[in-house]
Amino acid sequence: MARDEKKYNKWYRSTPHGKAVCTWTQINERAENKNGKCPTYANVKVLMTREEWLEWAVPEYEKAMKKWPNERISVNRLDQHYEIGKLEIIPHRENVIQKPSNKNVHAPDGMAWCGRCKAYLDTKDFHKCKTYAKGVYCYCINCTAALYQERTYKNPPLQKNVNAPDGMAWCGRCKAYLDKECFNKCKSRYNGLSDRCRSCCKEISKNRKSY
Ligand SMILES: [Zn+2]
Ligand SMILES: [Zn+2]
Repeated sequence: MARDEKKYNKWYRSTPHGKAVCTWTQINERAENKNGKCPTYANVKVLMTREEWLEWAVPEYEKAMKKWPNERISVNRLDQHYEIGKLEIIPHRENVIQKPSNKNVHAPDGMAWCGRCKAYLDTKDFHKCKTYAKGVYCYCINCTAALYQERTYKNPPLQKNVNAPDGMAWCGRCKAYLDKECFNKCKSRYNGLSDRCRSCCKEISKNRKSY
């Protein structure tokens, strides 16, 4: 009898339902470092019920087991917490090497990962960029624009130059718009000019010398 039970347990653990149940136990041991062995999981929460998990995970395990019949498969978080919609069932091997930077390796067809949306979006929502995985930039078009804006706001001189009147540039020391002629060229800047006017630059270097 005991032997049959063992056999049964072994068989059960090899079924999608059995795997999902076992994984549920493991997730709950790891999350928030409840077992004291997983400090990296201290801020990882389980934001789903057992029922929600099983409803999603059982068919996912079924699919994964068909796709990778000879591999150990496990659950991978696409975000901070264990949450339906932010999990995937993939081979353990890939799970281990997976980092946010190679989210695109597992992207569904025609989709790419946006590092700011933290979601897979249609590749049409991205600017093309050959150097990145999938040939698209790591942020979607909307996020790229938002990030550019954020950066601009955090950089007042740049913000000023974005809004500069024609033929003028902002001097961060004079705190005024001056004719572009008053500035030295500086290729790395937004408008190709130094962020201080020529006379300010001169004064700054004079002051430096007097130290
Ligand atoms: Zn985005
Ligand atoms: Zn100036």
